[in-house]
Amino acid sequence: MSVLPVPLGVAADEQAAFSVLPNGGRASLPVLGPTKSFWINSPGANPLASEGSGGPLTSDADVCIVGSGITGVSAAYHFSQLVGEGTGAQKPLKVVILEARDFCSGATGRNGGHLTPHSCFDFVKLEATFGRDEALRGMAIEEHTARSIIDILQRDGAEKAVDFVPGGRTILLFTEDEVHAAKADYDAALAAGADLSNVTFLTAEETKARYGTSYPAVHTPGNNLWPLKLVTHLFQHAQSSPNLNLTLHTRTPATSIQPISDSARRWQVETPRGSVSCTYVLHASNGYSSALLPHLRGPNGIVPTRGQIIALKADATAARLTTSGYIANEGFEYWFPRPVEDPEKDAPLVILGGGRELVRPHFEFGEVDDSKIDPKVGEVLRKFLPSVFPEMYEEGREPEMEWTGIMGFTKSGDPFVGPVIDSSDPESARAHKGQYISAGYSGHGMPRAFACAEAVAQMILSDMEGKEWTPPEWLPRHYLTQR
Ligand SMILES: Cc1cc2nc3c(=O)[nH]c(=O)nc-3n(C[C@H](O)[C@H](O)[C@H](O)COP(=O)(O)OP(=O)(O)OC[C@H]3O[C@@H](n4cnc5c(N)ncnc54)[C@H](O)[C@@H]3O)c2cc1C
Repeated sequence: MSVLPVPLGVAADEQAAFSVLPNGGRASLPVLGPTKSFWINSPGANPLASEGSGGPLTSDADVCIVGSGITGVSAAYHFSQLVGEGTGAQKPLKVVILEARDFCSGATGRNGGHLTPHSCFDFVKLEATFGRDEALRGMAIEEHTARSIIDILQRDGAEKAVDFVPGGRTILLFTEDEVHAAKADYDAALAAGADLSNVTFLTAEETKARYGTSYPAVHTPGNNLWPLKLVTHLFQHAQSSPNLNLTLHTRTPATSIQPISDSARRWQVETPRGSVSCTYVLHASNGYSSALLPHLRGPNGIVPTRGQIIALKADATAARLTTSGYIANEGFEYWFPRPVEDPEKDAPLVILGGGRELVRPHFEFGEVDDSKIDPKVGEVLRKFLPSVFPEMYEEGREPEMEWTGIMGFTKSGDPFVGPVIDSSDPESARAHKGQYISAGYSGHGMPRAFACAEAVAQMILSDMEGKEWTPPEWLPRHYLTQR
């Protein structure tokens, strides 16, 4: 087996790096001129890229959503589903989405394309930190998210339009410690009553026969898709609903949020094009959240963190590679082969992310500039797949594309969902009344953000009606900003 080009067993170093953040871990607004991603910059992929960037700005709304990634658009989608469902919110609800750059040009337009629940992995840590029920909910929210998205795609016959592939996921275990940790997670989840009938451990020989690499592994259900196309589909669905008056203004950054005292609306969201008066604000800006919410700067908040991806042509057919997605090295590296016309003849493009662990001492924490790539990371990403699958990737082949994107990391690895509250300020809940957040997915947002936004949409509609909101069973209570 070739020598791997990445350091192994460094998750503890990564955790330690979180307490010494460059620049205090603060975010800026999204930078201009981001790197070009396969998802955003393939021809015709982003029909809404510049939607609402010209003409008059919507000046009044019930809800102003900051950010047009999967969180912001999922919230709009859920408003379109929930308004009128006995919520008493006035129809049509006026919702505006402000997006600093092109539509969906943040992490959702730049990620690894996986929509895969993490299954029981991390169960031991979650159970030790938050208890058994919460560890089970940590699994439940991911199942709920994937199931909900798949149901929508099937309902609308949109699987092909978003390149949906339920190809499963193979977790390669590079070290003995990783094998032990995976078994411990599995045993703990099983003891807690989780259904793990779809989780299969493979020996190195079995992995070699199935996938062509000699590491022990675990196989779980998993999916991949074109995230921007999913989000475009959800936006268009929401916009066509009679329950919503939904507008989108791209290339329109929210620069500050000021209280209004002399109007029926609570907040004035400032942009370079004018302001939007609204009653509710939803911060769906993930890694950028602390630019507008300074109390979220630093290790107890949401830390912008840069990830890097390459799109590399394989040197074997899709049939040989299989449709499985992969994750390895404690989650630092992840990849999957894109679908092809003829699996027996065509070699697929593989989307591979990772290499952050090469950047010391900060692991790309505090880095908000996705207009640049890191050459050290790029060098390692180029070597990674040829070293893991020597027969299936050509050494020295240059990627077709390479890009970066900004994730939002929290200390726990879990997001903040609910009313905006600065826990160090007793006045904060009152001072931020009507502002909500769903952000901080720590590089694992695809199987969580859609459902977290569903919960926040429910909270906002309940508040409009003066009703108490009851959390759905699948939502981990420790995600909530207010319990
Ligand atoms: C390189 C990379 C690889 C990843 N791989 C995976 C993966 O394989 N699987 C997985 O589950 N997750 C992955 N993630 C994480 C996942 O993409 C995110 O968790 C998820 O997309 C977050 O969605 P979001 O809508 O909350 O944030 P984003 O998609 O980042 O959307 C936030 C939007 O807000 C906009 N914005 C910010 N500030 C303002 C402002 N002041 N005014 C107006 N607009 C603003 C931004 O421009 C952006 O478009 C990856 C992320 C990256 C960057």
